Amino acid sequence: KQRLADIEVPRDRVSVNRKLGEGAFGIVLGGEVQLKNQWIPCALKSLRDTASNSEKCTFLSEATLMRQFKHSNIVCLLAVSTQEEPFYAIMEMCLHGDLKTYLISRRVHAREPGEFSASLPTTLTNFAIDIAKGLEYLHGVKYIHRDVALRNCLVTDKLTIKICDFGLAREAIQYGLFTYKSDVWSYAIVLYEIVTFGKFPYGSRSNEEVCDAVKRGDTLLEHLPVDVNPLLRNLMACCWSFEHDKRPTMTEVAEELARHPGCVAACLEE
Ligand code: ATP
Repeated sequence: KQRLADIEVPRDRVSVNRKLGEGAFGIVLGGEVQLKNQWIPCALKSLRDTASNSEKCTFLSEATLMRQFKHSNIVCLLAVSTQEEPFYAIMEMCLHGDLKTYLISRRVHAREPGEFSASLPTTLTNFAIDIAKGLEYLHGVKYIHRDVALRNCLVTDKLTIKICDFGLAREAIQYGLFTYKSDVWSYAIVLYEIVTFGKFPYGSRSNEEVCDAVKRGDTLLEHLPVDVNPLLRNLMACCWSFEHDKRPTMTEVAEELARHPGCVAACLEE
């Protein structure tokens, strides 16, 4: 908590006005925070009042961790308000919410000919590059995200993507299973989710069935839409190499995407 003291704001500098979503610790709210005499839009992650001491600690550790990150593709922690309950971790506002909901709600629109669908290859490739750059930064500061997924990518009013959700709670349970290269594997699943506009990877299969299938060598590669750009297919195949060393780094991924503008195009067959 000590390391957050300099970004602590009193409760009268916080104004809450709506619910944005549900988080692991409590609800996520939309509102404004007064910083340097200016009210600015923000998202407030609240800690539910029934939280145990250990949950409180995890909540504050996550805020401390977020505080250290400074990158345009990582959600920024603006302030905390922990002198009263519920505790708030106050983040920059990403107006359009998570990328999964954003894409799913635009599926119909994406199929219609017009300006929106015409600009999609550029827009989607930029989304993919933003996420790759966010992960490149995290890996650069020696942090493994561990839950890279479309729902953990947020969309700003300027259509920049910011990675969120540095869930420390899962770390203890699954420690050891994650590496930088497991983030790379998950990133390629995000590419699948982007081109399919939020299709659920591996369809209706259970977690266990997916694990068994992957162990047999059956990755999502076999289930990609037929019209996926060949360059993108190749990149995804590399990210799903069984040997970690054969997977590219996030820097290499970002560079490859930047070399092929428009390669992340929508695949909305059926
Ligand atoms: P989980 O661990 O279950 O994924 P969480 O506690 O990490 O949940 P988030 O995923 O960060 O919570 O947030 C839940 C939802 O709140 C998001 O899906 C998104 O819709 C909304 N949200 C979170 N942060 C922001 C933000 N900065 N701007 C706008 N919306 C946000």
